[in-house]
Amino acid sequence: MALIKSISGIRGTIGGGAGEGLGGVDVVKFTAAYAEFIRRHNSGASRIVVGRDARISGEMVNHLVTGALMSMGFDVVNIGLATTPTTELAVTGLGADGGIIITASHNPVQWNALKLLNSRGEFLSDAEGKEVIAIAEAEDFRFAEVFGLGREYRDDTWAMRHIEMVKSLPLVDCEAIAEAGFTVAVDAVNSVGGVVIPKLLRELGVKDVIELNCEPTGKFAHTPEPIPENLTQISGMMKEGVADVGFVVDPDVDRLAIVMENGEMFVEEYTLVAVADYVLSKTPGSTVSNLSSSRALRDVTVGHGCEYSAAAVGEVNVVTKMKETGAVIGGEGNGGVIYPELHYGRDALVGVALFLTLLAKSGKKVSELKAGYPRYAIAKNKIQLTPDIDVDAILEAVKEKFSNETITDIDGVKIDFPDSWVHLRKSNTEPIIRIYSEAETMEKADRLAAEIKDVIASL
Ligand code: MG
Repeated sequence: MALIKSISGIRGTIGGGAGEGLGGVDVVKFTAAYAEFIRRHNSGASRIVVGRDARISGEMVNHLVTGALMSMGFDVVNIGLATTPTTELAVTGLGADGGIIITASHNPVQWNALKLLNSRGEFLSDAEGKEVIAIAEAEDFRFAEVFGLGREYRDDTWAMRHIEMVKSLPLVDCEAIAEAGFTVAVDAVNSVGGVVIPKLLRELGVKDVIELNCEPTGKFAHTPEPIPENLTQISGMMKEGVADVGFVVDPDVDRLAIVMENGEMFVEEYTLVAVADYVLSKTPGSTVSNLSSSRALRDVTVGHGCEYSAAAVGEVNVVTKMKETGAVIGGEGNGGVIYPELHYGRDALVGVALFLTLLAKSGKKVSELKAGYPRYAIAKNKIQLTPDIDVDAILEAVKEKFSNETITDIDGVKIDFPDSWVHLRKSNTEPIIRIYSEAETMEKADRLAAEIKDVIASL
């Protein structure tokens, strides 16, 4: 059993006693605190959008969230099964005062969570998240009197509206995609992507769609995080040469991994790199990713004569930096593409449409495209912490030891070497230090991580 309250929302496993997991009491309290927060910042606020991914507990949590919002006097526009980016677009499209997405993203089926949005359809900032937690902990909210209760409205048009918005983007070329006559395989891990991605592909002009795990039953066919070790099913199928490209999304469809025509991984780090390469070729401008993302984005950006900036880890930090620098494209190396032309949220639908346009116009195979990008490999390691370890002191000491290199300390410590980097960060959710290292090959990246581990051990 687990229940984690953090600035990015409330997250937990289903079942157990009060306070042990994501139970009814905590969902209602947290939702009421969010409603109170929205009203404090906008006294006329009256409408919240609610969407959910297809996980099994979604319907139950949806009832709790909807009831809590109504009891706080808010009308609820329930858009039903919806991706995270679709819910974000519905908030602004409906002129609502906020939104809640019921999803535990890439976490396994036992988990669920609430992601909280402001009236711009963007995630709450750190400070705003803290305010919601404080209100929840103090139970500092008031429920509405009987004549002030909210109502629930249903609106299931948003998946299609989202697809239309993606199709209308000037850089998405449906004609080029149709002309290419693509066969595309999709693995949507039996969540909401199973409904929306095949529909998007057909609307974009894809000739044949091979659907894998596209029933939105919430019974995840494999561990849902779209990383190589979980994608053996689609990769095995594609080794037979059945499709030009494969797309895999996580349960709430804000992360996109690509599988090459030969069944090998394009690698999730390169989703953003490829899409950015295409966007920059048409509309030059700056780019942003987080500190733990591949240097390939920087190289590609510089190759287009543009400027790259790094942000702290976390979508809200990347979005803040993108606004600051006026970035034309940005995101995260985990397959999260943020294209402000549509909205400031990671959006796998946008990623699919831009990537297919790039692929069609290039006339290349996916593996040929990949070969044209700077070659890097990222090793993702961790160190288990014990209570007596002072993480901040360790990070300080590492900084000191490598003071001759380029150091970035906006989020943990990142050391940039001429042809590699290593990023150490304390996890917010587990007692570990994450060590991400990138170099020309996986062997070198692993060696770099091992060296840093040795340094830490010697401290
Ligand atoms: Mg996600």
